[in-house]
Amino acid sequence: MKTRVVIIGGVAAGPKITAKLLRIKEFDCTIDLYTEENMISYSACGLPYFVEGLIEDPERLIVRRPEQFEEQGANIHLNKRCIKIMPDEHKILVQDVKNGETQEVEYDKLAITTGARPILPPIMNFHLKNIFTVRKLQDGIDIRNKMREPETKKAVIVGGGYIGIEMLEALYLNNIETHLIEMNEHILPIFDPEISDLIKDEILKMSKGKVEITTGDGVIAFEGSERVQRVITAKGQIIDTDMVIVAVGVTPNTEIAKAAGIELGVSNAIRVNNRMQTNIKDIYAAGDCIENFHLVSKNYAWIPLGSSANKEGRCAAINIAGQYDAFPGVLGSAVTRYDGLTISLTGLNETEAKKFGFDTISSTMTKKDKAGYMPQAENITIKLIADKRSKKILGAQAIGSGDADKRINTVASAIMADQTVDEFLHLDMTYAPPFSTAVDPLLSAALVINNRIYAS
Ligand SMILES: Cc1cc2nc3c(=O)[nH]c(=O)nc-3n(C[C@H](O)[C@H](O)[C@H](O)COP(=O)(O)OP(=O)(O)OC[C@H]3O[C@@H](n4cnc5c(N)ncnc54)[C@H](O)[C@@H]3O)c2cc1C
Repeated sequence: MKTRVVIIGGVAAGPKITAKLLRIKEFDCTIDLYTEENMISYSACGLPYFVEGLIEDPERLIVRRPEQFEEQGANIHLNKRCIKIMPDEHKILVQDVKNGETQEVEYDKLAITTGARPILPPIMNFHLKNIFTVRKLQDGIDIRNKMREPETKKAVIVGGGYIGIEMLEALYLNNIETHLIEMNEHILPIFDPEISDLIKDEILKMSKGKVEITTGDGVIAFEGSERVQRVITAKGQIIDTDMVIVAVGVTPNTEIAKAAGIELGVSNAIRVNNRMQTNIKDIYAAGDCIENFHLVSKNYAWIPLGSSANKEGRCAAINIAGQYDAFPGVLGSAVTRYDGLTISLTGLNETEAKKFGFDTISSTMTKKDKAGYMPQAENITIKLIADKRSKKILGAQAIGSGDADKRINTVASAIMADQTVDEFLHLDMTYAPPFSTAVDPLLSAALVINNRIYAS
């Protein structure tokens, strides 16, 4: 008899599970994916570049269409929200979002990939028109439509995390005067403060007066008649605006999982083992709705990223099919950009590393990313962090106009290989003048740390 696999959620992790299961030919199953949306398998990560106008047609963000999956034998149920999981009966309850009708669906194996949703902070008058969050394809379409109206001249972004910065880039490149407000003392607070401040300075320098950034102040109210016209901050700023994007973070969609007795961990995300199994038999979870095991801190953390969602989805599918795969965990490696400035990090930042009890030592240096005499040479700033006692590399942050992310990926490999700084500095990296310097800036940073460790 065929195994009945049911998947809840259809953006990244759900479609990944579907696609992988379809490739495991020896696993005889039916696949039914339920999503509350009217489409599946799109790149939320591409939304800022769609808003920017780099990608004109929203269809380009769709990775796979329902018909493509259906042709291969999976059943895709659009506009169907799962409202209850009944583990004892191996059933879920699904509601049609259009007509409210409900239906019970039986499963042998269930995968929860319900993802996350934007946090809506308690700001007065959130209901006013032209206030947006960014998560779904339609959000991107709505934001771009508003941005492109001739009367739209000014915008406010609430929140200076990755998404806030990516939306800032999109608006700035469309000549919208934009004011970003971040409640923390620093934008991109997952970087160490001095790197965050450097990023802020670079953004302001590049934006030539078109962009303003306020840190250490929070938005408390929106004002306007029907549509938003002003933003009021806790410190008394009154900012005129034509539109607002709220990007203050996300929260996992785990209410139905919790109600079914599925164990949650940090930030209310679902706890799974390294095979993506929850505490309840035959129920798996993957993507933004699960917490992650952090490979450096050896603690659980919630780091919702599309890169991890895909790997976790693949792992879940293999285990659902009765084969074996284990997902070791994450480093939180991430990259973004602002108008040509690459901003990237992996592992722990120094502040976090200290909190986890590491005896940190770090080196920050700014060097040319290619031979200085090459016309394309650009500055790159790298911060490398290690533990004095074990000499293990803990993390790195890099910003620069060139290939900052390739250095971060190199550090990610070193951390995964559990390398010490002295092992790392012998890494045989490529060199030719158009690509790097004879001693790559990353290895220079490692050399400085190594010298300091031995000097102390
Ligand atoms: C603007 C933006 C930029 C990003 N950029 C990057 C990037 O550059 N790199 C990166 O790694 N990550 C990035 N991300 C994060 C990335 O998009 C997410 O990590 C990824 O989408 C997670 O996929 P998921 O399938 O786990 O969850 P989601 O994408 O949240 O999808 C979950 C789906 O499940 C549906 N659902 C929820 N509950 C139910 C229910 N009860 N019944 C039926 N359906 C339900 C939801 O409506 C949604 O369709 C970005 C995100 C955004 C918003």
